[in-house]
Amino acid sequence: MVAGSQTHASTFSCGNCGASLAFSGVRTETCPYCASPNFVERPPAANRPDPQFVVTFTGDSAVAKLQLDRWLGNRSLFADAQLSHAKVDDIRGVYLPAYLYSAVARTEYSAQIGEQYTETETYTETDTEGKTVTKTRSVTRTEYRPLAGKHVGYVADIVVSASAGLPNTELTQVEPFDLKQMRRYQPALVSGWITEEFSRIADDCKAMSRGEAVEEVGLRLRRFMPGDNYSDLQWRTAVEWESLDPILVPVWVLALKYRDDKPLLRVVINGQTGKVHGKAPLDWWKISIAIVLALGVIAAIVIFGATS
Ligand SMILES: [Zn+2]
Repeated sequence: MVAGSQTHASTFSCGNCGASLAFSGVRTETCPYCASPNFVERPPAANRPDPQFVVTFTGDSAVAKLQLDRWLGNRSLFADAQLSHAKVDDIRGVYLPAYLYSAVARTEYSAQIGEQYTETETYTETDTEGKTVTKTRSVTRTEYRPLAGKHVGYVADIVVSASAGLPNTELTQVEPFDLKQMRRYQPALVSGWITEEFSRIADDCKAMSRGEAVEEVGLRLRRFMPGDNYSDLQWRTAVEWESLDPILVPVWVLALKYRDDKPLLRVVINGQTGKVHGKAPLDWWKISIAIVLALGVIAAIVIFGATS
């Protein structure tokens, strides 16, 4: 090691989930993503991209704990009690590696556009005396005609996870981030926090971003479809002028290994907006009692209903 490397934070690899975490000024005994204590210190990996921009945290872990408690309060009362006993220390703030993607999307689309119209229809009925009478009624019908066209648009602000510990599907659940608040990266902005190294290949993240861009185009096309309804919407999108910038985004992570025989429970909180995502485990013991009580109430209603 050369003397210059002393300014770097220590880097650790999680032996369980593979996340590479750098701590500067903070220590953690367990992996924030998977609660594993299986950490190995190693030199920072070469050839990792440097973040260009960073979205910073807007509050401390006490704020995150309040957001967690409010979220738990809105979950079912059957959520496992262990969860509400999570301590502030269990919630770790991590600067998550991600890519910010934008592109120009050229799309060709086709659809069937439905136009509704009303028509007066004549029909016959047999009246009470057995005579056939002719009547009219108005009916709504839809006429479909094909529509095809081209659409060019700029798709921006797509953020995908480049973290080994937190998959993109989980990051998506706590998006969006307010990217207007994004700042040019400087090490001082993240000192005192855990930062994860970029651990997904940029090309994979680009492919994932393109997928999100095509979905975004689909949303726009749906909003833009004329007529009363449409069907068979199909589109083909080609992207150009792509840009992919490495960035860091703030997330609070709570990983609870609350019972050895249960899967890990993970809650993710957007460190900027406070949006929470997680799967609260259900406590089957409490649910069983609730079912027995509910059956008791029903039985009482039936019995008292029958005797009165
Ligand atoms: Zn881990």
